[in-house]
Amino acid sequence: MSTEKTPCLYCQTPNDSHNEKCSHCGMPLAKYHPKKAKISFFVKAFWAIVIFCIVMIIYLPR
Ligand SMILES: [Zn+2]
Repeated sequence: MSTEKTPCLYCQTPNDSHNEKCSHCGMPLAKYHPKKAKISFFVKAFWAIVIFCIVMIIYLPR
């Protein structure tokens, strides 16, 4: 049965997963899991820093 609840990102009110907006504050509900999106962002930022450091090590004058 589809009785899954999606918590609002702004006020944490549990909403029905088929709702497009929060029933409490009216903000749009995210379709994806926000924690996964944040993790992938930090992984991309981490690799960007690693690549930047490697480039600087190669190009820095000794
Ligand atoms: Zn809300």
